[in-house]
Amino acid sequence: MKKNDIVTVQITGISSEGLGIGHFEGLTVFVKDTVPGDLAKASLTKIKKTYAYARPVELLEESPSRVRPRCPVARPCGGCQLQMLAYPDQLNYKTEKVLSNLKRIGGLSLSQEVVADPIMGMEEPWRYRNKAQYPVGEGAEGEIRIGFYAGRTHSIIPMQDCCLGITENQLILSCIKDHMEGYHVCPYHEEDGSGLVRHVLIRKAFATGELMVCLVLNGKTIPGEEELVRRLREIPGMTSISINVNCKNSNVILGERLRLLWGKPFITDRIGDLQFQISPLAFFQVNPVQTERLYAKVLEYANLTGKEVVWDLYCGIGTISLCLARKARMVYGVEIIPQAVENAKTNAVLNKLENAVFYTGKAEIVTAQICQDHKARPDLIVVDPPRKGCDVSLLDTMITMAPDKIIYVSCDSATLARDLKYLCSNGYRLERFCPVDMFPQTVHVETVCLLGRRKPDDTIKVSVNMDDYYQIRDAEEAEKNPS
Ligand code: SAH
Repeated sequence: MKKNDIVTVQITGISSEGLGIGHFEGLTVFVKDTVPGDLAKASLTKIKKTYAYARPVELLEESPSRVRPRCPVARPCGGCQLQMLAYPDQLNYKTEKVLSNLKRIGGLSLSQEVVADPIMGMEEPWRYRNKAQYPVGEGAEGEIRIGFYAGRTHSIIPMQDCCLGITENQLILSCIKDHMEGYHVCPYHEEDGSGLVRHVLIRKAFATGELMVCLVLNGKTIPGEEELVRRLREIPGMTSISINVNCKNSNVILGERLRLLWGKPFITDRIGDLQFQISPLAFFQVNPVQTERLYAKVLEYANLTGKEVVWDLYCGIGTISLCLARKARMVYGVEIIPQAVENAKTNAVLNKLENAVFYTGKAEIVTAQICQDHKARPDLIVVDPPRKGCDVSLLDTMITMAPDKIIYVSCDSATLARDLKYLCSNGYRLERFCPVDMFPQTVHVETVCLLGRRKPDDTIKVSVNMDDYYQIRDAEEAEKNPS
């Protein structure tokens, strides 16, 4: 078998990256742009010992799960891997993905004792994103391009109206592109570090309609700043316009320095009846509809009575922390981005919650330090790390803190499974989990897990209330010996 050979494969699964999986003469073949149920003729592009990659040349049979992608650039763009898979099948794929990672990587036997809550999907799985980061670059003719990177490359596919994003994106981007053309402002060139405009970050608070635009520049100013602001602020809902300075030659999108051009340095959104200020550098969940349901699941698993001490690690702007603070005695949040912690502190005040304290720093360092001083044992720890999961030293700290419950919120079930394996080898056991579709049309899936502390030999602890015992005994004594 060699490159460019044509093979016929029946697609039976999807890989974690969204490629169709089939088999041919002992090889596992990953075929781009196919879905389970397809029978495809495919040309081999790369061959390894046990597996190969291929690109489809003809669909011999179309899967009943196949749908027409809504977006014209769904294929070349790297963002949506599952647009051609019917939504119910996307949900099944994600459930399977979580289950398989928990079993395979986590080594967890998902016995009857573990409750698997059904995945929470969306009613309308489009235009759900409240945030977009569009790269700005140049096309072959030297024209300005704003769009998305083609899968696994840094070449920009022009696309200003992604159908996962808000409709205002297009208007904002056209405004910026026109301005760049009018003032002869160059896009940034990664190759030699020349040019100015790198990215455009747009955020919308769905509950209030407030809009934020942040231009990421390889410099401090953009020519015609006032004119640009004048045009942008005409867009209904515009609330915050700022510049982020990033002069580093790296793939990291945002730099550390921010300069407000106009409006407020934040937008305000609501989750349930809590309000949150969000600054450009802070993390905020990208799918507000599902965020509310995700946090409701966290609260359900937490089952708080009002007496608990809770830690919320990787707390961002304090969203989960403040939802919990309403039902707990005390909440401590830890977050690495200083601006997010500032937001979290303000958000506590804004919502009149005085029982939430926030710390800035790495969760793996700060948590250990603070809990040494506090010595208080938390009842619940919530962790919601980025894709790489928790640092093992943090898992050790959590084990030492010995809460009765841990709620792990994860956007990558592979690292989740790895971390659960560690926690479950150190005194905890998985009790429940629920996948949440925060990212329809993509391969990504969020999962909420509830872990409980394994008691020695898991024996049942019977608590006897001695007050009752003495009262009854005294009453009996009194009856027997009337004075
Ligand atoms: N729970 C929040 C944020 C979750 S995203 C919410 O639901 O909105 C993960 C957060 O972890 C981000 O805010 C990120 O800035 C933060 N973070 C990343 N690495 C960290 C670390 N080592 N220590 C503490 N926070 C970290």
